[in-house]
Amino acid sequence: MKTIKDLNVKGKRVLVRVDFNVPRKGETITDDNRIVSALPTIKYLLDKGAAVILFSHLGKIKHKLTAEEVDAAKKKNNMVVVSKRLSELLGADKVSFSPDSSGESARKFVEMLQPGEVLLLQNTRYEKGEEKNDLSLATEWASYADAFVMDAFGSAHRAHASTYGVPEVLKAQGKDVAVGFLVEKEIDALSRCVDVTDNNRPYVAILGGFKVSDKIKVIESLLKKCDKILIGGAMAYTFQKALGVEVGISPVEVDQLDYAKKCYEQAKGRIVLPIDSVYTDKFEGWTEKGVSETASIPVGYEGMDIGLKTQALFTKELAGAKMVFWNGPMGVFEQTEFAAGTKAVAQAIVELEGAFTVIGGGDSAAAAAEFGFKDKFSHVSTGGGASLEMIENDGHLPGIDIIKE
Ligand code: ADP
Ligand code: MG
Repeated sequence: MKTIKDLNVKGKRVLVRVDFNVPRKGETITDDNRIVSALPTIKYLLDKGAAVILFSHLGKIKHKLTAEEVDAAKKKNNMVVVSKRLSELLGADKVSFSPDSSGESARKFVEMLQPGEVLLLQNTRYEKGEEKNDLSLATEWASYADAFVMDAFGSAHRAHASTYGVPEVLKAQGKDVAVGFLVEKEIDALSRCVDVTDNNRPYVAILGGFKVSDKIKVIESLLKKCDKILIGGAMAYTFQKALGVEVGISPVEVDQLDYAKKCYEQAKGRIVLPIDSVYTDKFEGWTEKGVSETASIPVGYEGMDIGLKTQALFTKELAGAKMVFWNGPMGVFEQTEFAAGTKAVAQAIVELEGAFTVIGGGDSAAAAAEFGFKDKFSHVSTGGGASLEMIENDGHLPGIDIIKE
């Protein structure tokens, strides 16, 4: 696979798909990590004399909005806030912003761009053809550039026009496509979690968080690779329920019960579930809190975190691990009352000696940062969904496969 070091970009226009989907409160960017993570690629291209065009999505897409709601969403997810931060990081004289993501006005910005300068396009999310990987949209974007660089690892599991269509069109035209430094680093780290060698064993995966239906599919793949899978967070209740354990009003993915049971049986003891829980009478505005003695949660109550016994069990299961992949908090760590389980697991991971440790998940990374452990992990992925899909698909992601020759 080509990386940007293989490209000759002097005097050329290079289109870079970045992941600038940053968290914000109002007009303020609360964590600019994704922008900062793209700087090595951007600076390298500028140093080599390229004119750099950046494009990214920003914000969650909600379908079926009224015209008014679309306007409000566009305003809320205007990429201009990112362009301001980028100007601060690179110098205002170097950065320009196109308020449109395509069309004549965007093309004018592209044509004015000089080597050594950066142009950021408007949010790609509101282009109708983006998610459909529409050929005419991809062809238009491709026409802006002499080469394409994929540096949006967090979007590499999507075959959209900006991640897949553009490199496909440029390749067909005989132009260069390559991965950037960030994607290269992600592939290096996550490949180790996919192509496991004996040096990496025991290999323990820890799954948690809330997005059960997105994540549960990865378990079958992980069972083929890992020695143990520890499951906490909301996902644990789907497993408990499938095994006939009382889970009260805890979140359960009803249509995944059979799958969960099948995985558990296939694993033959390699899936480890919580043996106690911290629970409350409800999720929002709870007033009663308790800790269960066993895996089962009292009728009418909801599990919010793993208990002390589970913390000890998971710490014991992690002991001696040579590789750990962690996705998803063990509890509702945003509230201090339910942060202990996540903190204990994070601590147990970072205290492992000589282990290769990876976080793949935005909230898990946020939790690790909050507890002061983030720098102690070997790799913190910028793509939660993408890192899971890479494991699930045995190293393949559409946005990366299309770059390969
Ligand atoms: P990641 O971003 O690391 O992939 P997710 O997005 O899947 O993780 O899930 C993170 C969320 O899961 C957190 O906001 C956390 O509060 C929530 N969560 C964890 N455990 C529970 C639980 N038992 N009940 C409800 N929510 C939970
Ligand atoms: Mg998340």
